[in-house]
Amino acid sequence: MSDTTTLPSTDSLRERALASLRRVGVTVPEGADLTARTPITGETLLGLKATTRDEAGEAVAAAAAAFRTWRTTPPPARGALVRCLGELLRRHQDDLADLITVEAGKIRSEALGEVQEMIDICDFAVGLSRQLYGRTIASERVGHRLAETWHPLGVVGVISAFNFPAAVWSWNTTVALVCGDTVVWKPSELTPLISLACHGLVERAAEEVGAPAGVHRLVLGDRTVGEALVDDSRVALVSATGSTRMGREVGPRVAARFGRALLELGGNNASVVTPSADLDLATHAVVFAAAGTAGQRCTTLRRLIAHRNVADELIGRLTAAYRRLPIGDPFHEGTLVGPLISTGAYDILRQALGRAEADGGELLVGGGRVLADAAPHAAYAEPALVRMPEQTPIVREETFAPILYVLTYDTLDEAIALHNDVPQGLSSSIFTRDQREAERFLAADGSDCGIANVNIGTSGAEIGGAFGGEKATGGGRESGSDAWRAYMRRATNTINYGDTLTLAQNVRFLG
Ligand code: NAD
Repeated sequence: MSDTTTLPSTDSLRERALASLRRVGVTVPEGADLTARTPITGETLLGLKATTRDEAGEAVAAAAAAFRTWRTTPPPARGALVRCLGELLRRHQDDLADLITVEAGKIRSEALGEVQEMIDICDFAVGLSRQLYGRTIASERVGHRLAETWHPLGVVGVISAFNFPAAVWSWNTTVALVCGDTVVWKPSELTPLISLACHGLVERAAEEVGAPAGVHRLVLGDRTVGEALVDDSRVALVSATGSTRMGREVGPRVAARFGRALLELGGNNASVVTPSADLDLATHAVVFAAAGTAGQRCTTLRRLIAHRNVADELIGRLTAAYRRLPIGDPFHEGTLVGPLISTGAYDILRQALGRAEADGGELLVGGGRVLADAAPHAAYAEPALVRMPEQTPIVREETFAPILYVLTYDTLDEAIALHNDVPQGLSSSIFTRDQREAERFLAADGSDCGIANVNIGTSGAEIGGAFGGEKATGGGRESGSDAWRAYMRRATNTINYGDTLTLAQNVRFLG
């Protein structure tokens, strides 16, 4: 067994990925226009064939054709497809986790957790398939009934990011499928292999339950393939997860053709640590939220807003914990921090640290690159902790790397103002034993994020709640609660069961 700092060879990672794909039953479309690579060594695994724009159009046409029968398939029968998918995911949990680690560099426990999240959303969606309900509304007219019904929307284009290469797809796809939609998926160009595996499992599930093959299509390639979905008026909903830059391009383009967009974009998440906080709990939560997944979660903790009276104590504990973080081979059991997605991501981390220091920030720990000799094409970064004199422009940006900026405050009003004074609005939390402070943070004039927690970190949401954020995070909601409504169209129905035509608002016309 290797230790944390001995990295596996690219050949062994390629073999591991191909073995997983074989067990899942997937043949890789070999080619030269898309590369599968691994951030563990930074080297190429395979060459793949990308989808052309024409082929993307054909995939949408197939999904649109399948929609015509899928939309009238009873929802619980649609749920049977997702139940079958969930069973296949359970059976192949290790294979899928291997592919996530190979392609996205996640440590083993987080990769398994990502697959568990997919299994969980399958369970949720199967239950949902018997709970797609509308309301009956009191009518102002005698002999009338007012109701709303929910119908399938059409083809859903799912565009996903590299850092949750499978879970985000499953949130969208399982819910869309039980809602009666069909799906065309454009995954990140950085994670084609896990996408092939997930698609292969849906195909198997569709065959097993007799669903039309076109209920799910996969298109592989870079943003140009994504643009083909964005611009195709047969795609009723584009659910796009990625950077705010991407959302800024996708949102207006979809709106220009009156399509629907569901945007899940960048975050700049903060935790407030108050004087009454349990510092043991806060330290543990902060280290996981800030350094876990090598700082590459949309919900990664990027700003720590600590009360002046606890800041030094907290920083002392965090610095000590950061120094002990095992960085290296994500397959090794002891590793807590795997690689960044690329050396480019490390350059971005260094640039951000340079800007923070120029603004008067003090680098307390981390920021260095390790294992550069063992893997010159990979980037293993020490998570960084930086004390900032104020919330300068670099702190207000999302740097997709493990940097935690520490700011201090004196009053809760000041902490909340600092907290909300960033463009993004995804996830947030407060550490306190004071119920008034907790409630204030959750109130209308508290955190302005889509996710607001008490005494836990910003990352690691469960699938039961709706997931997403406000402002530059895009406003979309996915996963649990009533997020399913975004995947359906609503019809308001007025039914007159009387003998006369009564007009609303007492209007008289011919009668
Ligand atoms: P990215 O924006 O570079 O790419 C995301 C996806 O969008 C990829 O599939 C890419 O090919 C596609 N894309 C890019 N530009 C496009 C365009 N103009 N038209 C159509 N498709 C386009 O993001 P990334 O680097 O893969 O992921 C990291 C980012 O994603 C971070 O900002 C992170 O916060 C965010 N993210 C958000 C959530 C969320 O739920 N809010 C979840 C995961 C990641």
